[in-house]
Amino acid sequence: MELPIITPKGNEVWVRVIGKAEFNNGKCTRIYGSFQDIDSRKTIELRLKAISNNLPGVIFKYSLFPDGTDKLNFVSDGSLEVWGLTPVECIASTAKIWERIDSAGDLQLLKQSILNSALNLTPWQCTWRHRTEDGLIRWNAGKGKPTKLADGTVVWDSLIIDITDRKMLEQGLERATNLARIGSWELETNLDNTIICSSMTRELLEVDEQYVLTFQNVFSFYHGSDSSEFEMVLRDLVKFGKKFDLELQIKTGKGNIKWIRVIGEAEYLNGKTHKVFGSIQDIHILKESELQLKSTLKEKSEILERIGDGFFAVDNDWKVKYWNRAAEKLAEVRKDDIIGNNLWDIFSDALDTTFHKQYMQAKETGMAVHFEDYFQPLDKWFEISAHPSSTGLSVYFKDVSDRKLADLEIKKGYERFEKVTQATSDAIWDWDIVENTLYWGKGFTTLFGYNTEKGSPTLESWSSHLHPDDRERVIASLEEMLESKVNNHWREEYRYLKGDGNYSEVIDKGILIRDKHGKPNRMVGAMSDITERKLYEKSLKEINQKLEQHAKKLANSNEELEQFAYMASHDLQEPLRMVTSFLTQLERKYSAKLDDKAHQYIYFAVDGAKRMRKIILDLLEYSRVGKDIQNLERIDLNEVVSGVLFAQQQVITENQIEVKVAELPTIQGFNAPLVQVFHNLISNAIKFRKKDIPAKIEIGYKEFNGHWEFTVQDNGIGIDKSYFPKIFLIFQRLHSREDYSGTGIGLSIVKKIVDNFGGQIWVESIENKGSKFYFTIPKEIIVV
Ligand code: ADP
Repeated sequence: MELPIITPKGNEVWVRVIGKAEFNNGKCTRIYGSFQDIDSRKTIELRLKAISNNLPGVIFKYSLFPDGTDKLNFVSDGSLEVWGLTPVECIASTAKIWERIDSAGDLQLLKQSILNSALNLTPWQCTWRHRTEDGLIRWNAGKGKPTKLADGTVVWDSLIIDITDRKMLEQGLERATNLARIGSWELETNLDNTIICSSMTRELLEVDEQYVLTFQNVFSFYHGSDSSEFEMVLRDLVKFGKKFDLELQIKTGKGNIKWIRVIGEAEYLNGKTHKVFGSIQDIHILKESELQLKSTLKEKSEILERIGDGFFAVDNDWKVKYWNRAAEKLAEVRKDDIIGNNLWDIFSDALDTTFHKQYMQAKETGMAVHFEDYFQPLDKWFEISAHPSSTGLSVYFKDVSDRKLADLEIKKGYERFEKVTQATSDAIWDWDIVENTLYWGKGFTTLFGYNTEKGSPTLESWSSHLHPDDRERVIASLEEMLESKVNNHWREEYRYLKGDGNYSEVIDKGILIRDKHGKPNRMVGAMSDITERKLYEKSLKEINQKLEQHAKKLANSNEELEQFAYMASHDLQEPLRMVTSFLTQLERKYSAKLDDKAHQYIYFAVDGAKRMRKIILDLLEYSRVGKDIQNLERIDLNEVVSGVLFAQQQVITENQIEVKVAELPTIQGFNAPLVQVFHNLISNAIKFRKKDIPAKIEIGYKEFNGHWEFTVQDNGIGIDKSYFPKIFLIFQRLHSREDYSGTGIGLSIVKKIVDNFGGQIWVESIENKGSKFYFTIPKEIIVV
């Protein structure tokens, strides 16, 4: 046995003690043995055990016997960690360990490696998997040195470690490089020129394991006209350790063209590169799609520039990212002034407009919006499509002002037409000659009682309503116009059948629209119901006829009357003259024989006769008014009035009458009647003056649109209001002959003349204050 003892000096010493006993007749007679100091060996052994137990992995001795059985010895504590079995369990049997390796599928592999090592006595090395008690796969790596014993047993001192973590990392890396298609390469610069490369690198270059990649032949993979840049970059790496990162096109061993990314780095030792290494990555798809993207973008932006539509793009903060040429023109903002700016800063007047609302809505809902609206600041109509995306908003727009205005114009025109058809009492129609369809306005319902909404009328539905006696004529005139090349206006009067079975008299007017070849294609018109007018015209005609007859009768009787007045006044003058002259003779011849009374009677008789004569002359005058009409002439009323005043000069001067005459106009009229009007009015003003105050007469006028208004004003005795209308009647006098002479015909003559001119006469007067006579003369006198 080996055991430690404590020496009398107190030191611990490992000894090996061997003992034997001698027996005699079944009784031990002697024991003998030896003590051996094994302290140094034991110490080493224990230290070794401690070390092996503390090392990662499991250390053991494995024996493979010639009969194929095996055994583990000296198993370190690591077995628990690596296999999940205690050293004692492992030493007891290897079966469990084999089982677990078998369950992970690597039993064959491991056994083969052990056999190989045993056969050739070469160091054993293997990597395999086993399954833990929990069912997990773990990776082990083992190494060992074989020794063959004399009986054929092979013994290995071995170490197995758990490499699961490393293996996982390796696998992850491999998977990653495979996925990323990254290969590695390196070159020891002080050795030969062979570049060592990973299998992925070979795969990328499409060369097999045998292909030797060197610093010289690497350039042969370069695809492109000029490899000088690539060569320089590699040289700089080797010479100066300058890193590089390049994207280039290669032609692989199989002749395929590929985009790759090559990164190179160098390791320095004593100021010299001794190793260059790097990666090579397949970026073909990436590069192709990048190039594709670039060209698509280029193409797209070219399209965006070329399209006539305005286009702009904003990011999520409304910052303008793109603004094409058309946008510059349409929105009147230069690209340089808007790119990078907030859209709403530049178009602050678009805030709260439909544009703003629609863009917001597109952003909020993520749905494209399409709309049309008027943008007041630019006075333009825009048609807009805004497409939201996660990065912002793209907006296409075009100026549709022309179309919009045309649309509005059409709409307005249509509304106007609709309103006109509603407002007019006429029946408006629109005949499409090509299609032979007829549009009937509302008037057809109101005028003729037809339902315009029902059915689709044609020319036949109109012509069938014509009165049979009119139909042929009306249709013929319509056809005549359609056939004529020049006539585009049509007008007919005819009778038209109404819904209630009666006929209306109508006027139908139409205008023909021809195409550019002169072929009629449309006709628009209106029918007016003139039944009433016709009836009215008929009754008017009858009234006129009656009036004419009446006027004729009146004229006849007037003429007779005037004839009579003329004859009477003329014929009466003669006996009157006789009365006067014989009475005068009587007075002269028998003057002495006659007493005062007789003289007085003769005077009365002569005076009566004189007055009679005056009345007769005035009557004659009255009856003549309007008779001696000649041509209208221009008459200066200043001359007329001054003539009248001249005739009255004596009485005016004698009585110191003040006469004020305004500057009078020249008018159209007849001289004699106008002289008479002013003469009579001025004479009356003089005659009916007040005796106690100086008389004043004023003649004035006012001009109106269609007539002149003249006034003769005095400050005479005036007229009581109740007599105003009376004084213009014949023989109407307000005073006795003794007070004021006169026949009462003067104003009637004036009235008749004014009436004949088509004017009016009236008076304003206050008794004892004076009178103002007004009369008007139209500027255009109608001579009847
Ligand atoms: P006569 O002057 O011959 O009497 P008129 O027909 O001229 O007849 O006038 C009718 C009447 O109107 C006169 O008698 C007179 O009473 C009144 N009259 C006319 N003119 C004036 C006047 N200027 N002032 C006051 N009364 C007047």
